[in-house]
Amino acid sequence: MFWQKDLETISKNDLAALQAQRLAQTVAWAKAAPFYKDRLSGVDAEAIKSPEDVRRLPFTTKDDLRGAFPFGHLAVPKSQAVRLHASSGTTGTPTAVYHTKRDLQNWANLVARSLFMAGVRPGDVFQNVVGYGLFTGGLGMHYGAERLGALVIPAGTGNSRRQIALMRQFGVSVAHLIPSYALKLAATFKELGLDPKRDTKLKIMIIGAEPHTEEARQRIQRAYGVRAVNSYGLSEMNGPGVAFECAEQNGMHLWEDCFLLEVLDPESLEPKAPGEVGEIVLTTLTRRAMPLIRYRTRDLASVLPGACPCGRSHQRLSRISGRSDDMFIIKGVNVYPMQVEAVLMGFKECGDNYLIELDAAGGADQMTVRIETTENARTMSSDEFERLAGKLARALRDEILVTPRVELVAPGSLPAGPGKAERVRDQRPR
Ligand code: ADP
Ligand code: ZN
Repeated sequence: MFWQKDLETISKNDLAALQAQRLAQTVAWAKAAPFYKDRLSGVDAEAIKSPEDVRRLPFTTKDDLRGAFPFGHLAVPKSQAVRLHASSGTTGTPTAVYHTKRDLQNWANLVARSLFMAGVRPGDVFQNVVGYGLFTGGLGMHYGAERLGALVIPAGTGNSRRQIALMRQFGVSVAHLIPSYALKLAATFKELGLDPKRDTKLKIMIIGAEPHTEEARQRIQRAYGVRAVNSYGLSEMNGPGVAFECAEQNGMHLWEDCFLLEVLDPESLEPKAPGEVGEIVLTTLTRRAMPLIRYRTRDLASVLPGACPCGRSHQRLSRISGRSDDMFIIKGVNVYPMQVEAVLMGFKECGDNYLIELDAAGGADQMTVRIETTENARTMSSDEFERLAGKLARALRDEILVTPRVELVAPGSLPAGPGKAERVRDQRPR
């Protein structure tokens, strides 16, 4: 079952031809943007004959977007742009992205295609539990779900009890949430004496917008009795609808008719082979208002080798292991928060929320992992707590090669909001 069978199962050759044609078009469009005018002046769009020709084009970085803020990347007269979005600014000054009417239609179609692939159907009741506004997960997912034909509840974030009430009153079958919030909401269900498996009609959860581990996904699936589907997107590439899991849940199909994918070594910028983790670099292939060429996402993933049993030919991305800027260095070792999460979530005594704190209070760099325990741990003795903390510290050391301090804290005591979770707090002097 496909939303657009021809495009979703397109052959390698046809895809290459389509990408080449769209890449040439994109370069021609981009030349109208002040930012690309000089950078692309030596590039003949008509000479682009294959998707590999992208390798001759310059990169675009997040700093480039900031430098050209607010209009430097606009490639159409401002009067033709009908919407702007801005990134949430997780890692600095926000950046703006523009869309024409057509761009918005394309985007909604990509989200509809993604949702359909994940198993959502007309008739489903879709609760969109993410921020509306500049964040692209709100309107982006909203219009896509409407386009598909679902009944959309624009719930937005906050007020967990109200979210639960909406889910129950309207027989919500699909919900879109950030994974850390999905786990927090599961705890609220419990507090209310409700079991999402019994007391809701949820069958699919779309989770994305922040890094999470397979273990976190399993917890969400167990808590809600749903299929939890990984959704990857970023404002610079519209937002949701860039790469999405199919019902096989074995990696995220990246929509290659609309985005040209490269996975590169972040240092040498040489291509990585399938299976090797590198930085995702994306070029828009259909966006008119704001074409972006070789945008360095700083997100790390690999292309999964082999074909997907679902029949879609678009390459699959692995789970995003983190962004290169999430990485921190402690005692000379590179650590990604997802490595820590994977260890913690493997312990049934560990709850769903954790925070990594880095400081130099004792003179040397120090890493503390604070993890909420589960409710069952309330009955543990202080000896048992100590033994568990020791076990966790050793398991973490085996994974990250540094022994952190582990602090077990009560359920619900760490900060948790509806937005992207803060996982690392670095208080070391710069
Ligand atoms: P910001 O970059 O300010 O957070 P965005 O809302 O555009 O703004 O966030 C996009 C980023 O969110 C991606 O570049 C990626 O780092 C992260 N992200 C989005 N979806 C996922 C996902 N499914 N798994 C892991 N990380 C994701
Ligand atoms: Zn598939």
